[in-house]
Amino acid sequence: MPDQTADFRVPADTERWRCAGCGNLTRFDVTRTRRTTEYWHFDLAGEVQVEEETVRSETVEAVTCRWCGRADAIEGVDRASADTASDPAAG
Ligand SMILES: [Zn+2]
Repeated sequence: MPDQTADFRVPADTERWRCAGCGNLTRFDVTRTRRTTEYWHFDLAGEVQVEEETVRSETVEAVTCRWCGRADAIEGVDRASADTASDPAAG
């Protein structure tokens, strides 16, 4: 039984996600929970605009490949070493 509680995280500046199933590097469905503090600025008519957002915490719960639908094959790879030619979107 594979571990279903894989701890996804948003890729760092030097990383990116890659689907090991099909090579997709660019298209993912991301399910995440974010806890934020926002600066809500109401105008006199009562319409609100969110002018600032601070992310207090963020948890990526699931990442699913848009191409092949796999959620168990997403891995973090070095951006420099990612083979963009194998992305289905490139071909
Ligand atoms: Zn895929």
